Amino acid sequence: MPKSAPFQAPPDTLDRLPVSVLILLKEQIIYANPAALSLLQADAPEQVLGHSVEDFLHPLDYQRVMARIRRAERTQFTNPPTEYRIYTCTRELRIIGMMSTTYMIDGQPGLLAAFMDMTERSVIEQRLRESDEQFHRMMNTMQDVFYRTDAEGITRFVCPAVKEILGYTASEIIGRPASDFYPNPHDRENLKKAILGHGFVRDFPGQMRRKDGRIIDISISSTVILDEEGKYAGVEGIWRDITERMQLERELERLATTDELTGIANRRQILQQLDHAYKRFIRLNHSLVVFILDLDFFKNVNDQYGHVSGDILLKEFIARVQQQIREIDYLGRLGGEEFLLILDETSKETAEQIGQRILQVVRQTPFDLGAGVSVTITVSIGATSACHKDAKITELLEHADKALYAAKDSGRNKICWYCEQTS
Ligand code: GH3
Ligand code: MG
Ligand code: MG
Repeated sequence: MPKSAPFQAPPDTLDRLPVSVLILLKEQIIYANPAALSLLQADAPEQVLGHSVEDFLHPLDYQRVMARIRRAERTQFTNPPTEYRIYTCTRELRIIGMMSTTYMIDGQPGLLAAFMDMTERSVIEQRLRESDEQFHRMMNTMQDVFYRTDAEGITRFVCPAVKEILGYTASEIIGRPASDFYPNPHDRENLKKAILGHGFVRDFPGQMRRKDGRIIDISISSTVILDEEGKYAGVEGIWRDITERMQLERELERLATTDELTGIANRRQILQQLDHAYKRFIRLNHSLVVFILDLDFFKNVNDQYGHVSGDILLKEFIARVQQQIREIDYLGRLGGEEFLLILDETSKETAEQIGQRILQVVRQTPFDLGAGVSVTITVSIGATSACHKDAKITELLEHADKALYAAKDSGRNKICWYCEQTS
């Protein structure tokens, strides 16, 4: 094998060889002898020359071939004989037996490949066609998306179902980096890390961006592909659209955590938030204030105007309270007309101001209950500032509750603090 032969010299000899010969440079076919053109069913050399070798390879053999080409390009190397599936120019499937070796062209490492048609016309070809049809049938009918990316993260194969799910046709995706379709680049990195760490992933969650811009939730199951030297050659697997399932899960989560009437956190959720806030307080020792709010003589509203009017008032009351609190505060319904407000990282002074503002916005404007009815109401607030003597959140709640009763007992429409009561 010449180390650096001028490109024009060998074809004279190669032209006469009965065996098919191709010369590749950077995965492009730059020479094909007449035997190769005939095997590839090319009417003219242009159907082969200048084309990427990928145009002729069966998708399932692509990685293997590319690994061999790259190996020969890296070091002087002769690949042992092996069989591949290829498509001819008329898209007929053939099995070829091929050997290849490094071939220097103007100082650049290329590849010289010699091959023969191994397809026995009768039985094997038939079987081959059947398996190929089966492959394509499977790919065409799959609801999930089968894909394959190479070591550089470029999509090398994706089945047609992708059109339904992403809005792109397979050919719009093949050749593009898989990362183009991930709205969050970290998702793709995390997936790659997990696959490389374990060799595979099952039901790995992620998101993709559709052609119309919509983000969908997906679940991926993939396996790493290794080349013949055991090096990372890419990933193949299946992903499915789980947007509907995720929406359903989010809706169930919302229903399980939200109070239906007011739309704020329900009892279970607000107590969980209190638990988190309390744990943070224990760890970080910042100030944590808790309010229990209870409407004054609310029963009278129900008795006088009916339950539906009472509901309207409750919703409007929550709207007014929400205007007085910050994004970081948590408001939830403990039950009936009793609400819990968690003021995390808030000093007693700031909490007192928030409490006073709430009292004011409730009492100063009558509540419009519809049908010309408007009602003035007040609220009482029991407040407590967490201290390390509170061993559990139940104690915190008890203190706020005691303070609330003190507020009710001393005339309502006010905020009372637990510490004030004990001192
Ligand atoms: P106090 O100042 O002592 O708190 O008087 P109150 O009448 O507000 O106290 P009480 O706890 O006796 O009454 C609460 C009332 O809240 C009883 C119940 O009819 C009403 N209530 C509880 N949940 C709802 C609700 O979802 N909708 C309506 N409309 N009323 C509710
Ligand atoms: Mg009440
Ligand atoms: Mg009550």
